[in-house]
Amino acid sequence: MKMLGVCDDQNTCDKCGKKNLKRTIALQVDDAGNVEYWGSDCAARVLYGKSTKSGKDAALRFAYACGRVQKLRDKGMSAKDIANQIWNIYGFLTGHNGDDVYIGFNNATHKV
Ligand SMILES: [Zn+2]
Repeated sequence: MKMLGVCDDQNTCDKCGKKNLKRTIALQVDDAGNVEYWGSDCAARVLYGKSTKSGKDAALRFAYACGRVQKLRDKGMSAKDIANQIWNIYGFLTGHNGDDVYIGFNNATHKV
């Protein structure tokens, strides 16, 4: 499960079917690269085991950070500079290895 970013134009949760959401979180759900769009409720439940307000906010912030990594990478920024920027903007722990950027709350283990 890999977070790709936040999506404003997909407004139905692929997980539970809830409609008319303001935004969804794009997730790569398998190694084949299939993408699903989940509401922050469902994303928070999977990522944090509960769907509280703080869990939903954290899931969204994390997804925004993952989306930002992709945008900066598309602009040609190095993994090291991206990792620094994500730390400065969002306060997530970051690391980098080659072209890969890792981010996380307590450990920088989520590869983006
Ligand atoms: Zn849902």
